[in-house]
Amino acid sequence: MRLRLTHRFLLLLIACLAAPASQAMTDFTLQLRWTHQFQFAGYYVALAAIMQTSPIVWIVRADSGIHTPLDLAGKRLMLMPPPESAELLAMLRREGMDTDQLELVPTSFDLDDLITGVADAYDGYETNEPHFLEQQGIDYRLLRPREYGVNFYNDVLITREDLAENQPREVEAFRDASLKGWDYALNHIDETVDLIHRKYAPHKSREHLRFEAERIRELVMPDLVELGQMNPARWESIAQSYVDLGMAEGPVDLRGFLYEEYTEPGRTWPYMMALGSVAAMLLISLVTMRIARLNRKLVREAARRQRVEQELLENQEKLYKLANTDQLTGVWNRLKLDQIAREEIERARRYQYPISLIFMDVDNFKAINDVHGHGVGDQVLIDVANLVGRQLREADWLCRWGGEEFLVLLPHAGLQAAAELAERLRTAVDAVIPSSGERVTVSIGVAELGENDALSDLIVRADGALYRAKAGGRDQVALDFGN
Ligand code: GH3
Ligand code: MG
Ligand code: MG
Repeated sequence: MRLRLTHRFLLLLIACLAAPASQAMTDFTLQLRWTHQFQFAGYYVALAAIMQTSPIVWIVRADSGIHTPLDLAGKRLMLMPPPESAELLAMLRREGMDTDQLELVPTSFDLDDLITGVADAYDGYETNEPHFLEQQGIDYRLLRPREYGVNFYNDVLITREDLAENQPREVEAFRDASLKGWDYALNHIDETVDLIHRKYAPHKSREHLRFEAERIRELVMPDLVELGQMNPARWESIAQSYVDLGMAEGPVDLRGFLYEEYTEPGRTWPYMMALGSVAAMLLISLVTMRIARLNRKLVREAARRQRVEQELLENQEKLYKLANTDQLTGVWNRLKLDQIAREEIERARRYQYPISLIFMDVDNFKAINDVHGHGVGDQVLIDVANLVGRQLREADWLCRWGGEEFLVLLPHAGLQAAAELAERLRTAVDAVIPSSGERVTVSIGVAELGENDALSDLIVRADGALYRAKAGGRDQVALDFGN
């Protein structure tokens, strides 16, 4: 209970401040919340709701990966004994979680348990514990029930039914005095903090009390709502939440519970104004809630789309690679060369620059397969492709034509330039390739595109030159000089 003490002291203070303001001679006692529970609502009358929205939150570490109530599934959650903190359970239910399946452990009242990871979520007051965490430099996140459509009043001033019935004037005076106390405290935070620190809570720093005061002010909303305002419809929904959680018996019947039933009929205009502002506030909070919900949905949807798009993109890339490259060596395949060569030839014609083709075939490759096996043969093909690829320019296209045959398409290269490159390729390959332990050589035919050549003509010419290179004794380059 240590962590909530100041809160209780603040109420005590209000009782003290309130006393002189009241003209009544009768002594009344203000009992601080805690031992009384909603389950006894039937015997009580609610006089005023001090906090328009509840400070009770789940506190989680920022590095816990918990962002929404749904992330609490399977986590260790510290909770005040029910029906305390019912709003936390109501929030989980609203988000569609089965509260029976949660791992709830009684709170240890020791925030260190959150810090050290004994618990994943800690049931606390947003007015209190965050200050300890901030002081220790621990990043945290709050899951606030009101952001998930659960908006309970907190710190409700109540009295007994018989008092409300039999001593209405005293009850009214007491209510007024209590609210004046709050009004004073919220408008004189410095002074109040000082008083609490000196008289009631010396163990709490002034800084911490100020943190608390500012947070409480946000929850009391004195600028928006008349102090103590209560809305019957909201009470009904709060009560219904208790029924839904099995903490109170239904059906909800609030007859005799709200103070307004005990006061004179015929409302004054300030009352009507207050009512109006409550309605406006409710509307605002409903709209805010709806927007927050939509926002969350949008964020989720956007993330999902991004994932799908990314997957599509990756799949597209995979498909493109699969369709256009040779599986074994990773160079372009025949299909791709066919497409690219048509485009390159058209461009070369339009801009009138030369384009040539190299046709390369590994010499005596069958023997490598026969002696060392197909696996080694495969590795030799990979090595040859790599050795050749390293000699090429950005603009050149290397393609595996089939078996141990490679084509290289060379835009901007005439026969002479292509022949020089072919020679470089031949010497680059001409070496003992480690995977086979054999000296591997290639034969090469080179042809330049003629004026009336189609792609097939160019290939036939280069192949013809290759044939001559083979016939000439292999490991050599032969040129096609046209006809
Ligand atoms: P030449 O000097 O006349 O070109 O002799 P060669 O042995 O290289 O000629 P040939 O075209 O008869 O042999 C090619 C061999 O390449 C036949 C075939 O088994 C083999 N081969 C074709 N594709 C692959 C492959 O993907 N992997 C392996 N390891 N061998 C292949
Ligand atoms: Mg061959
Ligand atoms: Mg061969």
